[in-house]
Amino acid sequence: MTATSDTVELLRELVRAACVNTGDPASGGEIRAVRVLQRFLAEAIARGTVETQVFEAAPGRSSLVARVRGTDPEAPVLGLLGHLDVVPADTERWTRDPFGGDLVDGEVWGRGTVDMLYLTAAFACALRDVALAPTPPRGGLVLLAVADEEAGGDYGLRRLLQEHPDIFGITEAVSESGGMRMGAYVAIDVAEKGSAGRRLVVRGTPGHASIPYGAHSAAVVAGEVLQRLATVAPAIELGPLWRPFVEARVDDPALKERMLDPVRLDAALPELGGIAGYAHAASRVTISPTVLRSGQAHNVIPDEAYIDLDIRTLPGTTDKEIDLLLAGMLHGLSAEVEIRYLRGWPATASSVDTPLFAAIRRAIAGADGSSVVPIMAAGGSDARELRGLGIPSYGFGLLSTEWSYERYRERIHAHDERIDVASVGLTLEALRRLVSERIS
Ligand SMILES: [Zn+2]
Repeated sequence: MTATSDTVELLRELVRAACVNTGDPASGGEIRAVRVLQRFLAEAIARGTVETQVFEAAPGRSSLVARVRGTDPEAPVLGLLGHLDVVPADTERWTRDPFGGDLVDGEVWGRGTVDMLYLTAAFACALRDVALAPTPPRGGLVLLAVADEEAGGDYGLRRLLQEHPDIFGITEAVSESGGMRMGAYVAIDVAEKGSAGRRLVVRGTPGHASIPYGAHSAAVVAGEVLQRLATVAPAIELGPLWRPFVEARVDDPALKERMLDPVRLDAALPELGGIAGYAHAASRVTISPTVLRSGQAHNVIPDEAYIDLDIRTLPGTTDKEIDLLLAGMLHGLSAEVEIRYLRGWPATASSVDTPLFAAIRRAIAGADGSSVVPIMAAGGSDARELRGLGIPSYGFGLLSTEWSYERYRERIHAHDERIDVASVGLTLEALRRLVSERIS
């Protein structure tokens, strides 16, 4: 068996483990995927070249740490951060069983194949190779195969970090979100936007709906707030990763020039096709109203309403700036509308001037000849927790040439999620080069 086919078989088993995370603490069942990984690593565990520990944050919510120690305490300890949980799948809308792990025409089908079980499988395969090698590595290698990434990590990495703030001596790490094609380049996440969720609580005066005179409906005020929200345009901020993104992705010199100009950028967005949404999100704070609630009964004018806002921030955006932005929008309504903190975390970024990032560039160039473009993810991942500890952390992966950034974004969490074996092979090849350079 080749390493690629071992990884593909492991991926299929992880799909079948069906660790569906609905956000309910009783969902997930990542213990099933942990057992799959323990079986995969059995020979190395028996030889004593890999140490494993299982953490259970709640019944069934297990994470596995598998560690190969290095011989040189000064050498890097590379973390491989993969999650085991997947988002739910609507079986009716799929062509094949989302938890069958079918291998058809060179593609593995199933929920989580792209996000991110193919990479978790490749991480485990790379770790096993190191553990079974005739000589131990100079540096260390630690697989963190964690639960609950899809719902924020309280039952996964966050719990693990509470119990092990030293995080097993990891000095640098790779995780999901990398390997997508950005023009002729391969995109690697080096930063992520932050989150500043807010709830706008609207208060009115209740009344019987049959005599509305003099009542002040919270629902009507909420409607006004929503209309105002639609007109809020947070300032465009083109950070240090903007130009590399534009240079990699846009060929037309005139369009490129407009995209580098904050004044002309928005008029250029419609010409960007599938990448427009990313370009919009990467250049500003975004505000999306997601949950709206008001009223209890058909015949009662509601005295309360609330609007939840999913707000994504840029590196450097403060909570105070967000609250000021919202307060400005609510001008004249501040007596009726209260801004409440809902959830959040800061944006994070790792420097591109690190030995690990240089090694990622070489690993990808070595595996398929491509150059890397560092980018900022619009969404969030567990990597932010490691960046928060000062550990340089990057996305990783090397997908086949048809995987544009927008196709990657479309495939994850979508019906008929699947990944080609060629992408698994490319990723594994790049990963082995990376691991070899950093720790052997
Ligand atoms: Zn993921």
